[in-house]
Amino acid sequence: MERAESLAARVTEVQNRHAEVAERLTRLESERDARLAELDAEATKVGAGRADVVAGVGDDLVSLYEKIRASSGGLAAAAMQHRRCGGCRLELNPVDIDRIRSTPQDEIIRCEECRRIMVRTAESGL
Ligand SMILES: [Zn+2]
Repeated sequence: MERAESLAARVTEVQNRHAEVAERLTRLESERDARLAELDAEATKVGAGRADVVAGVGDDLVSLYEKIRASSGGLAAAAMQHRRCGGCRLELNPVDIDRIRSTPQDEIIRCEECRRIMVRTAESGL
């Protein structure tokens, strides 16, 4: 009799724990779904301007960008800052700096190390 009561108490304890875990799981799934919805909304918002950018940039550059992006971990272009490639972070040598300085602003420049497109800015150090 005592053993049956002990087992019944244990069953109740396990059922209560199960209910707690199930409730927590439901809450976490709800939080996950809410976050995913936020990410989807953000992806839609960010992607909305892409078509305009693609149209303004041109097919050749977009193709180059996508090719580099596929082979470089998703980062195809990066700002050149303080004479460093923003992609691989390597410092450019004086020969490359001279080459970049003499390259017209509307021409694409690429890092000799990682081949990413380098975007010149006021902070490029040129
Ligand atoms: Zn680089």
